[in-house]
Amino acid sequence: MKIFYSAVFIILNLIALGQNKALPNNYEFKAKVCDSIIDFNIKLSLSELSLKETNFLLFDPDIKINEVLSTDDSFKFHRSNDTLLFSCSQKISVLDITYSIPWNRNNSNQSDVSKNIVVPKNKNQIFFERFYRWYPVVYDCFSEYSLQIEVPTNYHVFSPQIEDSLSIANNYKTLWFSIYDEDLPFLICDTTLLHHVKRENNNVEYDFYFNENSKRFLKFKESEPIFTTDSELVDSILNNFMDRVPIVYEWYQKNLWQKEIEKINVIESLSENAGGVGLRSMMFLTSRLMNHDFCIPYKVSHEIAHIWIGANTMYHLRGRYFMGESITEYVNLLCYEDLYGKSKFDHLYNLDFADFYSDIQVKFEDVLNARKGSDGVVNPDIIIYSKGPMFLHEFRKSIGKKKFLKIVRETYSEHPKLVQLSDFEECIKKNDCWQEYLALYELTL
Ligand SMILES: [Zn+2]
Repeated sequence: MKIFYSAVFIILNLIALGQNKALPNNYEFKAKVCDSIIDFNIKLSLSELSLKETNFLLFDPDIKINEVLSTDDSFKFHRSNDTLLFSCSQKISVLDITYSIPWNRNNSNQSDVSKNIVVPKNKNQIFFERFYRWYPVVYDCFSEYSLQIEVPTNYHVFSPQIEDSLSIANNYKTLWFSIYDEDLPFLICDTTLLHHVKRENNNVEYDFYFNENSKRFLKFKESEPIFTTDSELVDSILNNFMDRVPIVYEWYQKNLWQKEIEKINVIESLSENAGGVGLRSMMFLTSRLMNHDFCIPYKVSHEIAHIWIGANTMYHLRGRYFMGESITEYVNLLCYEDLYGKSKFDHLYNLDFADFYSDIQVKFEDVLNARKGSDGVVNPDIIIYSKGPMFLHEFRKSIGKKKFLKIVRETYSEHPKLVQLSDFEECIKKNDCWQEYLALYELTL
């Protein structure tokens, strides 16, 4: 069955991406979490087409490679910034790469962990995805991943899908996964430090893993965060959050498209940094974001929206975040509007969007071209997360909410596919909204 699906995926990709684009690469990925290091071995089979297009892989510059073996004797590689460049005289079928990442889970001093890009933000949680360049990767390319991950038995491996199999021996557990995707996100976590709460709603299981920390963010007062340690208040913050996740999830199921997900894992980050990640059935959120939802209930639902929208949108290398983030955020606002009512939506929209950055004016092209990490005059996050939704709000006002959601559904629900701006525009044309879309180019917001 798997071979059949692989063949279908490859054909679909060829049709979707055109003859010159890369076929999926194949990764046989092994990771073992030990006391002081994480060992990796990757057997990477590059497709012939991806080899014609590229002779480099992106890979964190600080990770030292212990050994690279190749089926081609003339194979040579060197590192330059975050790229691993290679040359060879013949077609490579397999690269066998071994490396380790220092990590000391028994050492409380984080500065001892040598490199901050690849290591966990907290020593008891390791989050890896291609954006951190934990593994050599060609971006904007679907890959087939066969994974084997070994962790101490007190650790849990969270992934966007349930493992194929699992075995336990000598205080270690080994999990196997096979994933076909653009990305390989994983979270390895010491679950003894987390408090697990199980909920069920309409046949979906929600597993919440909360930080045991009793101090919770409550609100901002004159831009200063106010925390609480009151246990009743802490409980109500967490209950509020657990009540809301299924409601939001069901809104997306109903208004975007039906996804077959039986179980959702929501894991709280043990670090203080702000942010969150939502990928299929896995959500990883910081305390700040999770608690923020108590006073501003649209922060977390953005991450839930990512279960539907955002992945597979040529995210990183080409860095166009309109398709991955701006649309996600606006759909999130539509969810907020339905759950809390039009007047609350208007209030939020005016406060957090229209008024908040009213001194900054951008054109629609600026939104489409905004790249994260670029040093433009305006912070790209403002353009991506605030101005982008504002243009989409204008678009929705001219075509109506129903049609807007229909276009979003048609743009993103086709899988597997790297969703591009041209797909969005095709759907806009198909729905006779092209003139309204073009009008966005005339606006400055
Ligand atoms: Zn996002």
